[in-house]
Amino acid sequence: MYRTHTCGALRTEDINKEVTLSGWVQKTRDKGFMIWVDLRDRYGITQLIFDESRTDKAQIEKAKTLGREFVIQVTGTVIERESKNKNIPTGDIEVLVSELNILNTSEVPPFTIEDETDGGEDIRMKYRYLDIRRNPVKESLIFRSKVTNEVRNYLANQDFIEVETPYLIKSTPEGARDFVVPSRMNEGQFYALPQSPQTFKQLLMVGGMDKYFQIVKCFRDEDLRADRQPEFTQIDCEMAFVEQEDILNVFEGLTKHLLKKLHNFEIENFPRMTFDHAMKTYGNDKPDIRFGMEFGELNEVAKHKEFKVFNSAELVVGIAVPGGASYTRKEIDKLIDWVKRPQVGALGMVYVKCNEDGSFKSSVDKFYNQEDLAKWAEATGANPGDLICVLSGDTNKVRAQLSALRMELAERLGLRKPNEFAPLWVIDFPLLELDEETGHYHAMHHPFTSPKPGQLELLDTDPGAVKANAYDLVLNGNEIGGGSIRIFDKDTQSIMFKHLGFTEEEAKAQFGFLMDAFEYGAPPHGGLAFGLDRLVAILGGQETIRDFIAFPKNNSGRDVMIDAPAALNQEQLSELNIALDLKEQ
Ligand code: ASP
Repeated sequence: MYRTHTCGALRTEDINKEVTLSGWVQKTRDKGFMIWVDLRDRYGITQLIFDESRTDKAQIEKAKTLGREFVIQVTGTVIERESKNKNIPTGDIEVLVSELNILNTSEVPPFTIEDETDGGEDIRMKYRYLDIRRNPVKESLIFRSKVTNEVRNYLANQDFIEVETPYLIKSTPEGARDFVVPSRMNEGQFYALPQSPQTFKQLLMVGGMDKYFQIVKCFRDEDLRADRQPEFTQIDCEMAFVEQEDILNVFEGLTKHLLKKLHNFEIENFPRMTFDHAMKTYGNDKPDIRFGMEFGELNEVAKHKEFKVFNSAELVVGIAVPGGASYTRKEIDKLIDWVKRPQVGALGMVYVKCNEDGSFKSSVDKFYNQEDLAKWAEATGANPGDLICVLSGDTNKVRAQLSALRMELAERLGLRKPNEFAPLWVIDFPLLELDEETGHYHAMHHPFTSPKPGQLELLDTDPGAVKANAYDLVLNGNEIGGGSIRIFDKDTQSIMFKHLGFTEEEAKAQFGFLMDAFEYGAPPHGGLAFGLDRLVAILGGQETIRDFIAFPKNNSGRDVMIDAPAALNQEQLSELNIALDLKEQ
């Protein structure tokens, strides 16, 4: 038997017990006549002691050879520790070793296996198995497992059935490129890895499964942005005989369940906000509503004077920064520089200091009097002591810029508290989105999303105005889930494909199977998918997903530990009939 207890288990109640422990050597302290070893496993750290007066000499000699990360097994007696360590649960005891067995040696690790390590990101990824020994990564993976357990508990209680769908499929359009897999047995043909199980879960509804879920890997070959992974995990769900309201209720319930179970956090308000309202009030379709700083549109109270910048702008909009009136000139200049950075892209920023005495001092005093500025304060909800920051320009652009500023300032002001959670639904998304480059419309969610009742006709006259039965679940400024009520009849689906630029033949070739299924009694259905990696990171109080994934890829989509992707050898290429083509090029 390798162990009777784990390294996190022993307490004063165990004193005098004979125990066997196994684990890794975290560190050793050799005082000559006494050696202490911190022994670590997943469950904790236990201090071992080798004492010349009480431990056999041969065992002491062996202990002197131990290095960091050696794997050992020890047998000994639990004794009370002289200098107790209040920081760890096993800190009142130590194990006086009678027998040491070295199970494996270790090279000196390339970085310290401590909570605060000296290892940079690259080296930690290359030796990820050592990184996983560190508490922060280990705890993140354990936390992830708790989240998925709770998801399964909740959904199983609601009668959901977990069904696995295939990974080797044909392309599903979710807006990204597919990863493809050549088929050896079908020369010149390729599978695509699923961007999501979308069409399969809809077919499961046609198959009568009624409530489906799956915790599933999805693959999208996108240009990698920070904190995106080419393969990621979704909690994918679908329900039959439901309206939007039914879905929102079930998954509002799941979100509340997770926050209660994992943080003992009770959610009272679970607002539903239309897409249009979110854009107007927060400049963003995934607003962080843990704090105010709502947009105040100023067109009516700022476009009546000689200030050309505002007069020529489509939208003049501002936010009130709590306590910002005390910012120095230098601080405000820095803020202006910040909004002018290419990543944000504003041309400038107008500001108004709301003085404690009720007067105003602005950067545009030449054009606006106190009465004008009082109206700005009213529109932005600014109080004495606040600073109003105003941007202007093209509506969509300026909203995005002010939203970036709002998030930045909230971060600086400590308003984005990691232990506070404010979920909401954003609903009534547009069905279609105009691609500025091509001038074509594409599905904002995906082509299977149904338009709002009675809006189908609008597709011909004003496609951009059609709203969808689509919804996103937003938590603390992040989209954590999204879905829709689906089209479930062939005619509507055909109309959608037509508007998305598919010819009848193309639609048939790509989605004939779904259209066929719709001819055999497809029930009304809808669903959604949560992005598990991000959900776990946010619930874990962090915004980067990498530490919650056991073996993540880096920013170039590489696994630096196994060195993938990699070239194939000639034989493999020939078998796949790829070699010839490569040579010809
Ligand atoms: N398949 C969608 C996605 O991956 C989710 C859904 O519509 O259920 O975003």
